[in-house]
Parts: sequence; structure tokens; C-alpha cells
Amino acid sequence: MARVLYLGGLGRSGTTLVERLLGELPSVCALGEIVHLWQRDILDDERCGCGARFSACTFWKRVGERAFGGWSTVDVARVHALRDAVERTRHIPRLAKPSPEVLEYASFYTRVYRAAAEVSGAAVVVDSSKHSALAHVLRWAGDIDLRVVHVVRDARGVAYSWTKTVSRPETDGTDEMTRYSPSRSALLWNAHNAAFGLLARRGVPVHRVRYEQFLADPRAALTDLAAYAGVPVGGADLKFVGDGHADLGVGHSAAGNPMRFTVGRLALRRDDAWTVALPPRQRRLVGAVCAPMLRAYGYPLNPQEAS
Ligand SMILES: [Zn+2]
Repeated sequence: MARVLYLGGLGRSGTTLVERLLGELPSVCALGEIVHLWQRDILDDERCGCGARFSACTFWKRVGERAFGGWSTVDVARVHALRDAVERTRHIPRLAKPSPEVLEYASFYTRVYRAAAEVSGAAVVVDSSKHSALAHVLRWAGDIDLRVVHVVRDARGVAYSWTKTVSRPETDGTDEMTRYSPSRSALLWNAHNAAFGLLARRGVPVHRVRYEQFLADPRAALTDLAAYAGVPVGGADLKFVGDGHADLGVGHSAAGNPMRFTVGRLALRRDDAWTVALPPRQRRLVGAVCAPMLRAYGYPLNPQEAS
């Protein structure tokens, strides 16, 4: 049975950072956002975190052979049809019970996880797909030990990040990441975070990590996460984390934030640009829309108290 650590949360909450650091731990293999593997990798042959095209990456080639007898045999149109039928935030209430479509859709992921665990020899594989609806689907996946890490970041920091333009290097600069208005991302923040609360109430192990706390003490946070994942670490395993930085090796993240390409020294500092760069009117709007859950997660509603 493959043990899967699923990193969930709204995009721009720090899941890629958490995944990159987890991927440096012994017995952990970070896979990137598997939700995008079907389109971006199998069909579009975008770049793996190691820099190679997906089809040229030895790791993923071996995973594909083991999981499906080669990626070319995967019916991606079927995966997409199943995704459209079951993996939507609005379908989460229905995901209280498994349908044949849910089981079939989940089985594609299970095969990737199991093959990746076998090829890497890791005790835990990490999928940083983030989507809450997919986590509710994977709850029904057979033969995996699913443990969810819910990454939360201050809604105003998330909203500011969504207003910025970020290019996607894997497409050689021809494509940019999606942008959302602050009001839109505030609503998404509420919906996605609430969905992970519901997942926990439905009996799935969910461990919440605050982005800001994670960066305040990455070693302590990683030690906690490793214990939660069932792969306890000691001080020597965390030598790659220094004061304010981490030294990263090459990974094979299949898709996700451009940080997945970073090799070498990565600065570990809280991105609090929003406290000055997000206009006050928008800051108040997001703060008001997200107030109940900001409070529940322990965030001060007045950002002046934040530092
Ligand atoms: Zn690779």
C-alpha cells in the first residue's frame, strides 16, 4: 500500500515550498501536482523539475511503464471526462459517497502513486495537487494510505499573490499563470479551506500547516510533518535547512509552481509584501470576506498586529 502525503490548499499558499523541503527528506519522493500530469506532461510534454522534457525523464518513464505499461497507453480523454464529472468543488457534497466514476478516476492516481513509490523506493510519495475536490476523491482510492496536509496562508497574502503576473518557465515563457481579483480569491480561499475542514470531519487524517509558521521555524515544521507522514527525521536529515535558506537538490516534480525548478540555495523568508502592496480597500475587503476563518486559523484581522 502506497503512503501518500497530499498537500492541499488554495494556490499561492506555499504548497510548492513545503513540497520542495519535504522532497529533501530521506524516504520521501515529491511528485509535484499530479492533477496536471495528464494534460501538461503526457499530452504537452512539458518539463519535469529535473529540467528534462517529461518524455525524456528517466524517472517518469519508469513510473509510466510500471503504472500503465507506458504513458502512451493512458486514455487521457477518459481521465479528463472523469475529472469533469467528479472533481469539482461544487461536487464535494456528493463525494460523501463513491460512485463508479469516482473510483475509476481515483484509480488513475493510485497507479501513479504506487509506481512512483516502487521506482523511487521511498516510503512516502507527495502529491501537491492542492485541489480540495481531488482530496475528497482520493479518500475513496483503494490501496493508498492517504494523509492530507492542509497548507493555509493569510487570505490577504494569497489575494495579493494572485494579482501578480508569473510566467510559466516550463512553457518557455509563452504562457502565464492565472490571475484572480482579490474578491474572487477571497471567495476561493473560503471555499477551499472549508472543504479541507469538511474532509477532516469525514474522517480523513488532515494536518494543518500555516505558511507563516512553517517559515518561522522550518526545521520544527518539517520534523512535525515527517512524523505525521510516518517517516520520523533526526537533526542530520535536516542539515539542508540553514538559517533563512535551504539547499535543494534536483527533483522530479511533474507540474506546479516555477519554484519546482529551483536547485541549490533557496531563501526561506515570509513574503509579506501584501501588508504594504495590497491596497487598503482590497485588504479590508478580503479581510471582511474571510474574517471567520482567518480568526479560526489564528490570523490577526488587523495586519499591523501581524508582525
Ligand atoms: Zn525528471
